[in-house]
Amino acid sequence: MENREPVPRVLRVAIHARLCSPLEYLPPEGVSADSVLPGTRVRVPVGRREAIGVVIEPAAEATVAISALRAVRELLDPQPLLDPALMRLLEWAAGYYHHPLGEVIAAALPPALRQGGPAQALIERWRVTGDGRAALAAAALARAPRQRSLLLMMSGAAEGIDAEDLGRQVAGWREAARALRARGWIERLERPADESLPQPVTAPAPALPLSEAQQQAVTRIDGSAHEFAAWVLRGATGSGKTEVYLQCALRTLARARSVLLLVPEIGLTPQLVQRCRERLQVPVVVLHSGLSDAERLCAWRACRQGSARVLLGTRSAVFAPLSPLGLIVVDEEHDGSYKQYDGGCRYSARDLALVRARQLSIPVLLGSATPSFETLHNLQAGRYQGLVLPRRDDQAPAPRLALVDLRSHVLHQGLATPVIETMRAHLAANRQVLVFINRRGYAPTLLCTACGWIAPCPACDARLTVHRAEAQLRCHHCGRLEPLPARCRRCGHEVKPVGQGTERVEETVRELFAEHALVRLDRDSAARAGGSEAIVASVLSGAARILVGTQMITKGHHFPGVSLVVVLNADQGLFSTDFRAAERLAQTIVQVAGRAGREHLQGEVLIQTEYPEHPLLQSLLAGGYDGFAAAALAERAAAQWPPFARLAALRASARSADAALKFLAAARQCAPVTGDVRLLGPVAAAMAKRADRYHAQLLIESAERAPLHRLLDQWLPQVDTLARAGRVRYALDVDPIDIQ
Ligand code: ADP
Ligand code: ZN
Ligand code: ZN
Repeated sequence: MENREPVPRVLRVAIHARLCSPLEYLPPEGVSADSVLPGTRVRVPVGRREAIGVVIEPAAEATVAISALRAVRELLDPQPLLDPALMRLLEWAAGYYHHPLGEVIAAALPPALRQGGPAQALIERWRVTGDGRAALAAAALARAPRQRSLLLMMSGAAEGIDAEDLGRQVAGWREAARALRARGWIERLERPADESLPQPVTAPAPALPLSEAQQQAVTRIDGSAHEFAAWVLRGATGSGKTEVYLQCALRTLARARSVLLLVPEIGLTPQLVQRCRERLQVPVVVLHSGLSDAERLCAWRACRQGSARVLLGTRSAVFAPLSPLGLIVVDEEHDGSYKQYDGGCRYSARDLALVRARQLSIPVLLGSATPSFETLHNLQAGRYQGLVLPRRDDQAPAPRLALVDLRSHVLHQGLATPVIETMRAHLAANRQVLVFINRRGYAPTLLCTACGWIAPCPACDARLTVHRAEAQLRCHHCGRLEPLPARCRRCGHEVKPVGQGTERVEETVRELFAEHALVRLDRDSAARAGGSEAIVASVLSGAARILVGTQMITKGHHFPGVSLVVVLNADQGLFSTDFRAAERLAQTIVQVAGRAGREHLQGEVLIQTEYPEHPLLQSLLAGGYDGFAAAALAERAAAQWPPFARLAALRASARSADAALKFLAAARQCAPVTGDVRLLGPVAAAMAKRADRYHAQLLIESAERAPLHRLLDQWLPQVDTLARAGRVRYALDVDPIDIQ
């Protein structure tokens, strides 16, 4: 009996919309369905509109009658835009995060391509038509000399002339061209642009002779070049991790494969880009959220064409179309910015980097001084392999951590006396001081001392932050701005800012140490002219003696002249409802501490706290990050939190608190729960009201992945129906990194 595959007649197309399943179309007239390759963009009718979609696969049969199907209007790519390997990654992400494939694909594409723009850059070009030549021969245009000379110029070039060249040679040519085109004498063409990137002009920098530990890391990672292997490279800031990335990258490039280097949102500095260019001597392209749409498109195309050999990018670069890819590096893998958490598919770029490496059978390298608990757990379980870089010989010894008990010292505007004294000593010894406070603005609260009124955000369950320099009250949750009032809105009495933010710490420290130059680094100061680069440069040059800053100072910088780090408000992380808060706090402290010191300059870290006996701080002081992690991981194991369980959060928001909770309760009711899965909640979010919407969440937890995903697959269509009926917005977050 003959057993032939049925001939595909239908195309399954993912479009950018909140649709759970792909749509089905007939191929365009005269095109057979099996000639349309997956990953090709198409223009399709959807209702009365048109949409851009991506072909997922040809199928033999439709789920509805073939006669009911509409046809694809246009094939947009002669070659598939997305290659099979990338399609596989995107499909994996859609499945794992239970998110519509069309939206996942859209998120992976630069906006111009999402909207159907050409996959290749095109250059505008103009050419004379037959009628145009006839007109020239008939000596037309005697009274329009500009049009005539334009026509003459074009008639000399059979292939036409680039618009750019016309612009250089004929002033006001566009107007003349419009007139000529209206007569049908010239036509507009497009030709593909040459998109090869210029070779770097930077002088090549020689590879550094590697330390033994670095050499071993490079050799081992390189030994796994043709198989999937997850490497974890541990080492303090400055221990030489980047050097290992670079030398692994060089070897990968030598095999004619490309390299993807992922960095956290604020870790992508010009210094790093420069270092990669000097060392790797191939076109290095960057991709991050600060680029314009045109720049993004350009970077994406360079990756797809293979002209970019190294891509340095943040989160979404994990989807970049590099091929053939030979190595993925995730720097500072513990960093929260790898997780997409507001809107769209809530993926983890770190986790997807592992999936992509596994699918391609290539190594992935995770680097950090403070690996995430997930990564530590995978190391212990033998799924990842560990590599450790000890401190380099010319590196400072590990800084000494000490706690300053806020209850037993006099405070001066939030700074304890011993902290001020130690700062004075370090500054007197001509060293630099770094003051870390995880809160920007002047003060987190504006209080009326007469009636107790606290300036609230009307749209959120939050207080407005005082920004004194701009004379504003700002909500850090919804972005609301108000002028800073001088008097209480309720009783008219005077108001005063309470608590500390970077601006106020700056003011205090300036008053205390007027003779030492100070700079502040936070989101507000970085937004000004010169930005964070100028601020960092002034610390590196020694011009600034004191740096006050938020988390921004913990990313990607190393300040050799700093010998004292002060951590002002560690306590926030100690008593959070979020089980990950302690992990983040420890990572922040260790990361901030790691910014300091050089050769033989023992750094000192002072942590102000009201809870010096807290077990978290104690384990961190006694055993460093590893000691802390061991203790905290034991707690997670006992409580069955990740990484010892799988978690997903169903989050809802609505115009009333009741609606969000009711929706989640109804969703819980219809969940096809089996014995292996637990549902926790629903509960209102810790900050229930945000931007005039009420937020609540339901947690879904399971010891194993499979039952959790089975439940989600069966349940989500019902959840979606409930949400539409109740006019509730919802989002599913698989592997959430914060529990709100
Ligand atoms: P990390 O990425 O761990 O912070 P880097 O690779 O940036 O560390 O190295 C920190 C500093 O040490 C850099 O200035 C780098 O040039 C230098 N360095 C790293 N490895 C070596 C080496 N093998 N020999 C000499 N200098 C090195
Ligand atoms: Zn008042
Ligand atoms: Zn608000």
